[in-house]
Amino acid sequence: TATTQAFESAIAELEGGHAAIVFPSGLAACTHAILAVARSGDHVLMSDSVYGPTRQFAQRVLRRLGIEVEFFDPLVGGAIRQLLRATTRLVYLESPGSLTFEVQDVAAIAAEAHRRGAFVILDNTWATPLFFRPFEHGVDISIQAATKYIVGHSDALLGVATANRRAWDLLRDG
Ligand SMILES: *Cc1c(COP(=O)(O)O)cnc(C)c1O
Repeated sequence: TATTQAFESAIAELEGGHAAIVFPSGLAACTHAILAVARSGDHVLMSDSVYGPTRQFAQRVLRRLGIEVEFFDPLVGGAIRQLLRATTRLVYLESPGSLTFEVQDVAAIAAEAHRRGAFVILDNTWATPLFFRPFEHGVDISIQAATKYIVGHSDALLGVATANRRAWDLLRDG
């Protein structure tokens, strides 16, 4: 709808990305973005402090699809270099991370991920684009659980994912 498109372009502008897609929940935005990037046989690095249902999705669904998931210390920074493999397709971040709230060195992690050709997804729900501009730090896809701050707080379920130009076709085509 026109309202949907207006919301998507407002979020894309706030996040500083190329374009955005709205989803019926924050978790739907997370799972869609991951599945848009990762394929069977890929290796995915996910920070250890991600939102619980995202972690469960990775452990149950991604593993069943033949995607290997490895969790890493959110404070790893540039040392993520040692965890990246030839098959690493995606590094998934959440900063600050749910519950423990570590703030990650997104730029250092993204630089190493890009050096190996991997994509970087950030769940930017906690910081919001007002306090963290994801695309200025090398993120390819940024997610908002709009259910939280954007909607007000759990008055309605809503999610949105914003991509840069590199990741937009993948995100849009799912
Ligand atoms: C709540 C939350 C989600 C999921 O959002 P829903 O709209 O409830 O599905 C995802 N990520 C983070 C960080 C959250 O806090």
